[in-house]
Amino acid sequence: MKQIIKILDLHKNFENINAVNGISFNVDAGQMFGLVGPDGAGKSTIIRILTGLLSYDSGSLTILNFDLKTNKKMIQDNIGYLSQKFSLYGDLTIDENIEFFAKIHGVSTFEDRRNELLQFTRLTEFRDRLADNLSGGMKQKLALACSLIHKPKILYLDEPTTGVDPVFRRDFWKILANLLKDGVTIFMTTPYLDEAERCNKVALINKGKIISIDSPEKIKESTNKTVLEIVCNNIKSAASIIKVKTNLEVQLFGDRMDIISDNYKKDYTNIEKILMDNSIEIISHRNKSLSLENVFILKVKNETVVA
Ligand code: ADP
Repeated sequence: MKQIIKILDLHKNFENINAVNGISFNVDAGQMFGLVGPDGAGKSTIIRILTGLLSYDSGSLTILNFDLKTNKKMIQDNIGYLSQKFSLYGDLTIDENIEFFAKIHGVSTFEDRRNELLQFTRLTEFRDRLADNLSGGMKQKLALACSLIHKPKILYLDEPTTGVDPVFRRDFWKILANLLKDGVTIFMTTPYLDEAERCNKVALINKGKIISIDSPEKIKESTNKTVLEIVCNNIKSAASIIKVKTNLEVQLFGDRMDIISDNYKKDYTNIEKILMDNSIEIISHRNKSLSLENVFILKVKNETVVA
């Protein structure tokens, strides 16, 4: 089965909110697929629909080669879902939490799988600790272990690394890489564009619609532009001045700005002069390729302008 998830013209409204507005795409088996978009874009709604937990208004959804409407239970037995509000039982230990989820999924012989998952998430030495006494990252790893106890073929992750520290994020990604090696298909939403870069395929969505869908490399190549990165004094006013005087797309990232350019040399010469005229000193500059984040901001802005 090449395409494990097929979505065709999916629509979902909440009263007067068009949360999902005609979305179509496929996910290949064994892929890591990333859904990226600003807050309110429709990411959680799509993931909840795909898990069968939320109804949809129209469109067709084929998962594991079955229609979700008519085969919901069978599909749900084969998927894992780590939601943003995944609830662990604080007064149960790690072991007991996993056992609880095994029973919910009707897995009666779970001990070997539990040991494997504890090893996999490096939680074995803490197995007798109450969930309430775990750090945020450890809780998230336990939640992941619970959502994998029944060996799902597809794992849905809704912003799994939001609010956890960078060390945990690295650790979590290693675990995901191992899951992929085992053939699990991973479908995740993430607000982190650097994480999206690691996916095989990414869909950028905004206002319930897809604005780009491809491998991160292809999405980046699609613009045919380059980035002029500048670090300078008084960065905020420098960015405003450049925007007004050149009409170029300027994106601020803390103490640096990325200027999206068709012609690096020409634009740099022009910008250097503009900043000098405004007594702003350039500390450093370089030419680099667009990141997914650059492209994403650019595309969302263009959409907003068109709308
Ligand atoms: P994201 O996950 O990308 O932040 P969501 O899927 O949560 O976006 O939300 C998409 C849109 O649907 C938002 O405008 C949100 O306010 C709205 N929405 C989501 N869930 C509900 C709900 N249960 N009732 C009403 N509106 C909702």
